[in-house]
Amino acid sequence: MLEVKNIVKYYGKHKAVDHLSFSVDAGEIFGLLGENGAGKTTTFRIIMGLLDATSGEVMLDGKPIDYSMTDHIGFVTEERSLLTKLTVKEQIIYYGILKGMDEDTIMVELEKWLKRFDIPDYMDRKIKELSKGNQQKIQFISAVIHHPKLLILDEPFSGLDPINVKMLKDAIYELQQEGCAIIFSSHQMEYIENFCQKLIILVKGKPVVDGYLKDIKKAYRKKTVLLRGEDLPFEKIEKIPGVISIKPIRDEYELKITDEQVAPKIFAAIKNSNVTKFDVTEPTLNEIFIEKVGNVHEK
Ligand code: ATP
Repeated sequence: MLEVKNIVKYYGKHKAVDHLSFSVDAGEIFGLLGENGAGKTTTFRIIMGLLDATSGEVMLDGKPIDYSMTDHIGFVTEERSLLTKLTVKEQIIYYGILKGMDEDTIMVELEKWLKRFDIPDYMDRKIKELSKGNQQKIQFISAVIHHPKLLILDEPFSGLDPINVKMLKDAIYELQQEGCAIIFSSHQMEYIENFCQKLIILVKGKPVVDGYLKDIKKAYRKKTVLLRGEDLPFEKIEKIPGVISIKPIRDEYELKITDEQVAPKIFAAIKNSNVTKFDVTEPTLNEIFIEKVGNVHEK
């Protein structure tokens, strides 16, 4: 479906994207992460044919991408781009026609989406009179009204309450089931963990983590041991080689360890205590992100 091949983008002398490659198949949700200024928006603009890469290429269904292919792409931008003086209907018709749809089809799709997002009677409301959450829904509808093959979602949940997040999440899953290829970007790692099978973390335009989430987690050696109990021998645990830190959290303790091999040694040290929980967990994406992005900062 989408193939990004070794793209590089310079703004003057500043390298914003540095040899970035990835692919997203139909029905796959791909995460593109990075700090502010890491090069995500630049990458999105290149994929959408709005900006030329300095080198490298982007292919959609085997063909080099250009502006004429944007009919197949939907985009929810971080900076919202609704025409606030228009009504919902006028706005969506405007976008639908830009994407090559006829008005009757647009109306059928719009009615379906408004019903689905629990705002069936909002057709003739002015965008500027809508709440932030409802504006966000309209923004989403404008990105998917034409059934894009590729959907780019940049912070799609910002400003939404949990009920609206759930509504939008379900809609995204449904588009995935229908075979839409989705690129998802967010600074909120829980969303990425929930959604993305594959991801890249960019630092200064360069991928520093790249692959399937489950493999990335497996390859990250540091683990966490969650421990609950009475009379835990912390003096002894602290001395075990490979125990990085011990932190009390509510009624339990979070122990960071250098790798899985350290866990049985902790287990042996506590066997005579009254232990009610001993759990070795995978790192969170947030931990991986902070370590990888932090490491590069230090160089
Ligand atoms: P954010 O999370 O803040 O949206 P981002 O990952 O989308 O950031 P980009 O907007 O792609 O990052 O910016 C990448 C780098 O390129 C930054 O250093 C930015 O200052 C620079 N940059 C972006 N657009 C331009 C431009 N038009 N001219 C010059 N430099 C630019």
